Amino acid sequence: MAIGYYPHGCLQGGVELPTTGPTWQVMRLSRNRNWGHPELVKFLERFAPLAAEATGRKGILIGDMAQPRGGPLPFGHKSHQTGLDVDIWFMPMPDRVLSKEERENIKASNLVAADGKHVNDEIWSAADVNFIRTAAEQPEVERVLVNAAIKKELCRVEGKNDRSWMSKVRPWYGHDDHMHVRLKCPADSPNCEAQPAVPGGDGCDKSLDHWFADWILRLKIPEFGGSSAGLKLKDLPPACTAVLNAPASPASAASAATEERPKAR
Ligand SMILES: [Zn+2]
Repeated sequence: MAIGYYPHGCLQGGVELPTTGPTWQVMRLSRNRNWGHPELVKFLERFAPLAAEATGRKGILIGDMAQPRGGPLPFGHKSHQTGLDVDIWFMPMPDRVLSKEERENIKASNLVAADGKHVNDEIWSAADVNFIRTAAEQPEVERVLVNAAIKKELCRVEGKNDRSWMSKVRPWYGHDDHMHVRLKCPADSPNCEAQPAVPGGDGCDKSLDHWFADWILRLKIPEFGGSSAGLKLKDLPPACTAVLNAPASPASAASAATEERPKAR
């Protein structure tokens, strides 16, 4: 069950996404963040082949999901606490299985130009549009966060096409080398707090201009948009105390024992 709010909660009975699948590979394995609500794992197993087909690529590279019991992350994110958030890299999966070292060290490619106002034309392509659209079109997806320059480009290239899918695609800090996909609260999770619905419309309006103000572009928000390191157990829903104190399952105890302290990328 997902308990609480995306930046304020935990995960009971989380399951692990296999680190290598036919059309996906998990990156940064040392972080042990490839856990999620069963609905998130199911979503990724379904989305990965859809995305491969829509983009003509071999598959997707998956970044952070949640810790085995969710909760605040020591670095990197405010959200990702309830097992319903996942970062998916814009860089396509290569046609081979990456080693553990490669998954730790490969740098994600940045789709945004240095000025922060445009996409990088050297690597941006129509496949990126199809990739983001495929995510936004999935019914269980609540919203998709991308850099404002990417949102602006989607508005431009989609022009007069049906842009109804774009209401779920929201601009946010960072998110220039990955998109953040957030699922709605699953039916089995009565203590999951839903996020207010996205405003109607495609978001290709004046609200986007704010993101290109000089003072916003100059902000040095940590690359994922913040950290939850200051949160304490008492700040979380009471049900999270029971989740934290539950005995470890043999699988999660084994991965905790081998976990190393990773550096933020
Ligand atoms: Zn994220």
